Amino acid sequence: MVFVQVLVDCPTTDRLFTYTWTGEVQPGDGVWVPFAGRSLGGIVVCVLEDAPVLDTPLKAVESILHRGFLPSAYWQLLARVAHYYHATLWQVVQCALPPGLLSRAQRRVERLTGEPTLLPPAAQTLWTHLSRYQQRDVAWRELRKHVPRLEQGLRELEQRGLVRSYLYTPPPPRPQQQTIVTLLVAQAPSATPRQQSLLQSLQHLGSEVTLADFLNKTQTTRATVQRLQANGWLAVHQREVLRGQESALPPDQPKLLTPDQAQALGQIQALSAGETLLLWGVTGSGKTEVYLQAIQPLLTAGKSALVLVPEIGLTPQLTERFQRRFPGQVWVYHSALSQGERYDCWRQMLTGGPQVVIGTRSAVFVPLPKLGLIILDEEHDASYKQDRPAPSYHARTVAQWRSVAESCPLVLGSATPDLESYQAATDGTYTLAQLPVRVGGAGLPTVMLVDLREELAEGNYSPLSRTLQREIQQMMERKEQGILFLNRRGFHTFILCRGCGEVLTCPNCTVSLTYHLSDRFLRCHHCHYRRPEPEQTCPQCGSTHYKFFGTGTQRIETAVQERFPGLRVARFDRDTTQRKGSHREILDQFGRGETDLLIGTQMLTKGLDLPRVTLVGILAADSLLNMPDFRCTERAFQLLTQVAGRGGRGDQPGRVILQTYNPTHAVVEAARTHDFLQFAEPELIARRAQGFPPFGRLVRLGWQGPVEELVLIAAQTVARYLQEHEQEILGPAPALIPKVRLAYRWQLLWKLPLMAEPQHLLQALMKIDNSIFCHVDIDPIQAW
Ligand code: ADP
Ligand code: ZN
Ligand code: ZN
Repeated sequence: MVFVQVLVDCPTTDRLFTYTWTGEVQPGDGVWVPFAGRSLGGIVVCVLEDAPVLDTPLKAVESILHRGFLPSAYWQLLARVAHYYHATLWQVVQCALPPGLLSRAQRRVERLTGEPTLLPPAAQTLWTHLSRYQQRDVAWRELRKHVPRLEQGLRELEQRGLVRSYLYTPPPPRPQQQTIVTLLVAQAPSATPRQQSLLQSLQHLGSEVTLADFLNKTQTTRATVQRLQANGWLAVHQREVLRGQESALPPDQPKLLTPDQAQALGQIQALSAGETLLLWGVTGSGKTEVYLQAIQPLLTAGKSALVLVPEIGLTPQLTERFQRRFPGQVWVYHSALSQGERYDCWRQMLTGGPQVVIGTRSAVFVPLPKLGLIILDEEHDASYKQDRPAPSYHARTVAQWRSVAESCPLVLGSATPDLESYQAATDGTYTLAQLPVRVGGAGLPTVMLVDLREELAEGNYSPLSRTLQREIQQMMERKEQGILFLNRRGFHTFILCRGCGEVLTCPNCTVSLTYHLSDRFLRCHHCHYRRPEPEQTCPQCGSTHYKFFGTGTQRIETAVQERFPGLRVARFDRDTTQRKGSHREILDQFGRGETDLLIGTQMLTKGLDLPRVTLVGILAADSLLNMPDFRCTERAFQLLTQVAGRGGRGDQPGRVILQTYNPTHAVVEAARTHDFLQFAEPELIARRAQGFPPFGRLVRLGWQGPVEELVLIAAQTVARYLQEHEQEILGPAPALIPKVRLAYRWQLLWKLPLMAEPQHLLQALMKIDNSIFCHVDIDPIQAW
């Protein structure tokens, strides 16, 4: 006898149930189980050898419905995600499977025979409504949309024996069906002239059409079609249709690869199952073309490929290129699809042939059979890490497990690799392939540094330096386009001297201190260091322009418009892109040349290919360099390089103006010269010395609650526990956002050696004090 954990097809539960079974069973098998007095369908998620400790006796699985609904390896992957990221299997299942994959029990109302007399108003409304349906039995959910006072009306009709309501468990959801008419006999001697002409029409329509189409085009009735069918002249049957996903783009041909591309492709093709390759290529170096050509032979061999991208909405060009190269074989999967579309996409994958699925983070879980290659583009992007809800997984980590489980290689692509990937590529864990130059020989844009301290000394208080103003002027005269980039996150929270560029940092952690307006203290968000706010003048240079509080995109927009009245300016940030589709609208307008200058935040950096942009202005690099997070310089380098990479993708060379108070900062210098190594090497040395990733692991624990003392006590209790167990911790310290909606937030960073497994201690921790919810983030990458 074995014990199986079953995902039961029941809408009111949020957990897995354990049953017994005697005989063969695999994770992924569909089963029929007793549940709350009924029988329900479900999927076996895992099989346990030992009996779980429970106070109630276990029931047995009634029968196995279908073997291998999803392969066993797939469920093992989900279990691994749950274990590693300290989440429940159910949470992982919810994040991996599309909603509605399992059908849900529904309440339905059936009209019985009988004629009502003199009904009360609510009952009359429902009865009238029910009479409108052809079928006698209607879903509750459907009625609820149309009928007021439904509960009351139903009660009254039930009392009179006119309807009954019941719970119905439909079989696993069926895809959308179409009725198809197929011609069997073109010439039927015994047919009437009218019937003969119908058969001919069908032949003209291609011998196979949908019933709806056929009725419509021939102006005939279902009854007539049925007679033709009864005579054996045509067949009527149901066929599954898959919603959406057609593309009418002109196909395109593989390009002749450059020697660098050809070499990278060769390296990818030489990878063994489960191996990872880092494709490190500057922006515009032709990485996408390499992906396409790596996928081509796989499809021919009947295999499939999974392509992960940070954001579908912002990378339509990439999706289009795949659709044009592999017409009819590309599927796009992301969370903005409707439930039906997601469900269809899954069905298609489970049953379909060779194909390419392009998707965002959660697509790492799609069930592609015969997976031949996984590609994770822009692998450094933070959106691959899920924050909430649990599991807080990283798609790159899961992709690695998948590539091992499915015996296929994994390709990570980036112009600015994550230091963890880069380290793995240099120490031999990954293979490294490089594309060091842009296709067609276009140079990377020239980066000019502007020292903002000098601007101030010369009396320019505007956020636009004189150099930047001159460049915008020239851009206008040449009728070209430009981008101004501003980092707004955390802008207001660090203290910087505009006279000398000095930033106050923590003496323990070398991260910048964060200014808390509420009590005017400066705090470190890694350890618990704090100090009162400094004097009005800079301790370093005596300047009185000491406290620098940044500017938002809106202020920049105003400043630009005042200075350049004729310039057509658009803003691209959280505020202007809230509405659905407004992303694309703003970008399309810019793409068509209806605006000249785009002012935006981080969102601007993601994979845009805007050939007419010749000027990129980075308004203040400093805010990037002073986030209270050990990864902030890495982020800054990535961002600066990506922003700079937006310029000069067309024939015109690009120019980047990088404004900063700290022009000698190593990261600024590395970004200026597009030199990844100049940034990475010293940074890796520092990380190694501190035991930070990629040389150690981190777990972040976070607490949040309305009474700060209690939050702090919870954090301190856990901190003590960890210290007693000889664990290395940083904090507890206030979270980066220390108070959210009246809740105080404290956090603790737990440092672990690379190979350590924190799961055991974590489980123990969760039992210490659960009066305040503890949020666990394994391998966190963002400040909380
Ligand atoms: P990346 O993905 O590295 O940013 P892309 O693959 O988008 O680079 O390539 C940049 C541009 O160069 C695209 O317009 C692409 O069509 C073109 N391109 C890529 N490879 C070749 C090639 N071998 N020959 C000609 N054009 C190419
Ligand atoms: Zn100063
Ligand atoms: Zn500190």
